[in-house]
Amino acid sequence: MTATDDLTVWLGGVLDRIEQRAQAAANHGPTWRYSDGNIYPSDTSRHPGPIATGTYGGGLEDAHGEHIAGNDPAHVLHRIAIDRRIIAAHPIGEHGYCTNCWADGGVRSVDAPCPTLRLLAAAHDAEPGYRPEWKP
Ligand SMILES: [Zn+2]
Repeated sequence: MTATDDLTVWLGGVLDRIEQRAQAAANHGPTWRYSDGNIYPSDTSRHPGPIATGTYGGGLEDAHGEHIAGNDPAHVLHRIAIDRRIIAAHPIGEHGYCTNCWADGGVRSVDAPCPTLRLLAAAHDAEPGYRPEWKP
């Protein structure tokens, strides 16, 4: 197994876990909206009330509520799908180079794992199994 294989397998596992959490959280609809201190799911027939609110009957602060709604399951699943497409666009070639990345104005191949894959992995560097040698 090459360094790129190790990184892509690890990153695929991280994305799988995030995807599973987002799918589980989408059980009342994948799109959430923030209104008046509450987070509401898109499928109000299955869950007519808010799925999140502030403590002791108080609402969420606007910044918190808007952030949560902006990172709803639909958004997370979309980002994961895009990350998987980026990973697929950076396969290792037969000589150990990324087949899509070039350096020095396109005259030099880039060793795999390429900077794109390293940056994608670095977004999850707090996850177990991340290796310091993958640091971009
Ligand atoms: Zn690449």
